[in-house]
Amino acid sequence: METQVKAKVHNFSAGPCILPPEVLRKASESILELDNHGLSLIEMSHRSKPFVEIMEKARNLVRELLNVPDNYSVLFLQGGASLGFYISAINFMKNEGGKAAYTDTGTWSSGAIKEAKLLGEVITVGTGKDNDFTKIPKGYTIPSDADYFHITSNNTIRGTQVKEFPKSPVPMLCDMSSDIFSRKINVSDFDLIYAGAQKNMGPAGTTLYIVNKDKLGKTGRQIPSMLDLQKQEAKDSMYNTPPVFAVYGAMLTMEWMKSIGGIAELEKRNEAKAKLLYDEVDRNPLFKGTTAVEDRSLMNPTFVLTDESLTERFDKMWKEAGVSGINGHRSVGGYRASMYNALPIESVQVLVDVMKELENNA
Ligand SMILES: *Cc1c(COP(=O)(O)O)cnc(C)c1O
Repeated sequence: METQVKAKVHNFSAGPCILPPEVLRKASESILELDNHGLSLIEMSHRSKPFVEIMEKARNLVRELLNVPDNYSVLFLQGGASLGFYISAINFMKNEGGKAAYTDTGTWSSGAIKEAKLLGEVITVGTGKDNDFTKIPKGYTIPSDADYFHITSNNTIRGTQVKEFPKSPVPMLCDMSSDIFSRKINVSDFDLIYAGAQKNMGPAGTTLYIVNKDKLGKTGRQIPSMLDLQKQEAKDSMYNTPPVFAVYGAMLTMEWMKSIGGIAELEKRNEAKAKLLYDEVDRNPLFKGTTAVEDRSLMNPTFVLTDESLTERFDKMWKEAGVSGINGHRSVGGYRASMYNALPIESVQVLVDVMKELENNA
């Protein structure tokens, strides 16, 4: 069977997002039959040897790609990063007098704050609210009596990204949904990293948790089993039926990451792609960036037209060139060209060429 991968579409979708064509091919084959096991991936037991091996491989690939220390566990759970807001809080917020510090960098961190408030006191130690989240807050002090500190590494909607993480006197928890695997990180700087799969890791349906085991089980509260990272870890992410297809897709994507040279290579590619686009945004008088230059996201560059009357013409041009998904998030408008790992630089060049063409014909 020949898979139809639409090569002419340049997919800048913010999520679920572009995946490598070879991942799509293998993943689709697995629906008919997983390797030569005589069964589809989605009709075999998650306790069967082939699936247990997939889960193990997925976990080991995370360890290898990100250099995860031995005292951290790697889990693939469900509920998206949106449930991660609550899972992170309930596993770290003390039952009595619970207090946590959060940075607020926009929609997703605001969502995380909202969930944490259900469990204890939340202090916002840095916020981008006054500048409409176009800057990453810096220079704040994290109180040393907080149970933990929470930060969102990349503001997917606004297009800002934390370039340097603060040193935290308390456990640091990070929502890395939209930039995990895009750049080198030091896992041991964090006690919990969580990320929905569908932005850089695979199909929607699973959420990655990388957690320092030594810091779990200290809240003195009862945690529902499905939300209890200690319980999930004891069951190797298989407390209940895991999202088998999503985990397999993530495993394939991580195999692809490894095959091209791992995080160092991805970081290099992502920097080159972002530079290509931001250079054009800065050079071309018809466009301007919408975030502070030093905080620009490599994953989700955002920009606007300087002359809004060109909107219709520009939209028609990029659509005709096969560019897809660059409309800004409905809450902010403008343009957002999400450039996750699997987006080739050729696609960015196509967009840049359209921007140049608009200038030449304006
Ligand atoms: C997309 C996104 C989320 C929400 O993820 P879901 O998996 O849809 O719940 C949370 N945080 C960040 C940073 C995101 O980009």
